[in-house]
Amino acid sequence: MPTLAPALDFDAPLLQTYNQPLPRYTSYPPATQLTEAFSPQDFQQALDASNQRQTPLSLYFHLPFCHSACYFCGCNVIVSNSAAAAENYLRHLLLEIDQKAKLLDPRRSVVQIHWGGGTPNYLNLEQVETLWQAIDQRFTLAPEAEVSIEINPRYVDKNYIFSLRAMGFNRLSFGIQDFDPQVQKAVNRELSEERLFEVMGWIKDAGFESVNVDLIYGLPHQTRASFAETVAKTIALDPNRIAVFNFAYVPWLKPVQKNISEATLPSPEEKLAILKLTIEELTQNGYQFIGMDHFAKPEDDLAVAQRRNELKRNFQGYSTQPDAELIGFGLTAISMLDDVYAQNHRRLKDYYEAVEKGQFPLEKGIALTPEDKIRREIIMELMCHFHLDFGAVSQKYGLDFLDVFAPELADLRQLEQDGLARITGRSLTATPKGRLLIRNIAAKFDSYCRQNPSALGSKAI
Ligand code: SF4
Repeated sequence: MPTLAPALDFDAPLLQTYNQPLPRYTSYPPATQLTEAFSPQDFQQALDASNQRQTPLSLYFHLPFCHSACYFCGCNVIVSNSAAAAENYLRHLLLEIDQKAKLLDPRRSVVQIHWGGGTPNYLNLEQVETLWQAIDQRFTLAPEAEVSIEINPRYVDKNYIFSLRAMGFNRLSFGIQDFDPQVQKAVNRELSEERLFEVMGWIKDAGFESVNVDLIYGLPHQTRASFAETVAKTIALDPNRIAVFNFAYVPWLKPVQKNISEATLPSPEEKLAILKLTIEELTQNGYQFIGMDHFAKPEDDLAVAQRRNELKRNFQGYSTQPDAELIGFGLTAISMLDDVYAQNHRRLKDYYEAVEKGQFPLEKGIALTPEDKIRREIIMELMCHFHLDFGAVSQKYGLDFLDVFAPELADLRQLEQDGLARITGRSLTATPKGRLLIRNIAAKFDSYCRQNPSALGSKAI
């Protein structure tokens, strides 16, 4: 039976109490657990096993270049204005596509493609066409495949947008972050309101099926009043999905953030107020809370998949393709097979050297244990549906949930007393108050987090 859209109850003191660094659970085990002990032979075997399963494929292509650095950015990007750099990268990416396509059964259907970055539209149209043709010739695209691309609206024109649509892209995503010129200047990402509405007009005219936009709260000079305007303008843009990310100020980890003065950042109280008004405005204006940072219109595929209990999470965030195995191409790209995760090199030089030698450009990976897979299922169920049926896990894995996970359930009692979760002998459900803190609930089932609570990710709020 379809479930209802998850409701939210914003409880500021509770959010402050539980605001601690935790993994984002785009995977379990988290990416921090990947190690160099994982070998190319391990990856080869995993690809062979994946062919045996004949699961559909999801393909990710990473384009790491950006024209300039946005000061909030936590991604691993290469800032450049060289057309030759993009050409050279593309040449190597095509080598990797050739290499991996030969190892994947051509009968496997590709149900999802995503180009991410960096800035994928760093490539000119001719380069986009070259990459698209390479993919189209080597893989079997399902007619209804979701084909998405991230763009920076500053570097597109109408022809670029229409050409993407004509090639086969049907979903598009772009960052706004904030409409306020003062905020934009402080983070080195200036883009006028007129331009954003103009680009959205082209996207709609071109007939893209779904458009996602990103906002970030916690940036310099933001106030609840200024961000309320950003939210109102974003709603007026009328995207299908809106992601609202928390800005994590970590200049000791991300040197580009040293360009931002800490004194200009909103206080923790102001940030919470901004988050509260954002949630209220979006939900009152027809957007449904999906989970961690994400909102979508009720008719969007993400919301539909959630109501059907088919939503999944992978390294790109929430996904509507429950059975697909993800193969990553390009610098830092991650492949996510049923029981193996593998990440490509981070350094361009290492990546180029490996693909030129015909080797996997593999930097690290992990083979999941049977226990990892059970815990992954539990954590992803909570992250995607805010509910866990103990009997379903017991039956699927032939275990007694209440017995095996007794320590985790004991740990969860405190969260239950604080109103984050309801636990019965049969199930665990995040309350409307607990849904914004779903990572805190999920983390109780994370054995890596339980063993080493200090090696964690970003804060919840
Ligand atoms: S364009 Fe995107 S990836 Fe590039 S620096 Fe800005 S935020 Fe980061």
